[in-house]
Amino acid sequence: MFVLDPRTEFIPTDLPAGTLYDRAAAAYLGLAVGDALGATVEFLTPREILSQYGEHRDIVGGGWLGLRKGRVTDDTEMSLALGRSILATGGVNAGAIAHAFSEWMRTKPVDIGNTVRRGISLYRQTGATEVARHDYDAGNGACMRCLPIALYTLGADPDAVEQANRIQAHVTHHNALSDAGTLAVIRMVQAGLLGGDRGHLKELAEALVAEDERYRYDRRRMENPGGYLVETLRAVFQALFATDSFESALVEVVNRGGDADTTGAILGMIAGAHYGLDAIPRRWLNVLDKETARDCKAQAIALLRASPHMSGA
Ligand SMILES: [Mg+2]
Repeated sequence: MFVLDPRTEFIPTDLPAGTLYDRAAAAYLGLAVGDALGATVEFLTPREILSQYGEHRDIVGGGWLGLRKGRVTDDTEMSLALGRSILATGGVNAGAIAHAFSEWMRTKPVDIGNTVRRGISLYRQTGATEVARHDYDAGNGACMRCLPIALYTLGADPDAVEQANRIQAHVTHHNALSDAGTLAVIRMVQAGLLGGDRGHLKELAEALVAEDERYRYDRRRMENPGGYLVETLRAVFQALFATDSFESALVEVVNRGGDADTTGAILGMIAGAHYGLDAIPRRWLNVLDKETARDCKAQAIALLRASPHMSGA
């Protein structure tokens, strides 16, 4: 049975631990395959995708970044950097996260958002681990990398989850709309991990809409979603609730074009947690960069193992 107050934890069923680890791995691999699949068609319109790829449904690389097949972008890489910092320090520490992001930027990432670059540069120049509040900049950069928080805080007090997310988000993105949307995604991932059904996911999306009307997703079909988190999540929610499998949801969202690697990544983490590992097409897992796949799986297990849910706290 579940308790549906979105402020409270979902009370777990007697889900076997193996199933939970399986879903955690699926959430992380779902993020990565969504990123890799979407990156090919990032910035294209649905019409351009159709003429160039038909329905885009295979991880083939290319795109404006000229990616090698199976390669992921900043969405997955920043998640892994965040997860590494949590595991290395045994907690969610702004300084360690900023350092991890800075180290990641040193690797000359294939893509990096402007807001992220600005935040990391500020940290390098001043040591600041929280950027100034920015009321008009609700980009999706904090949301795309939130999965380690969802895994590590599973079973934690709702305030602790919210606080952990603010810490990671504000290293580069300090915006109330972004915080609210990102927290909703974290809650949806956690609900999926614990076996919540589609109705539970929908209640959490609706709770976000109730909190801020701008997140309404029941109107126009969201095509070409930009980097504004409201557009990103509209596309993600529409695709998630209009489909009934991991594959169809992901295909649905990336073929809307726009910021497709990030809609793919966010949908991938929610749908991965919800549908589980067996639902992710083998043809996607098989071409995913091997080292990335290994890191995603290892982090998923380690972060979940360190969570209050697993330690029975
Ligand atoms: Mg990206």
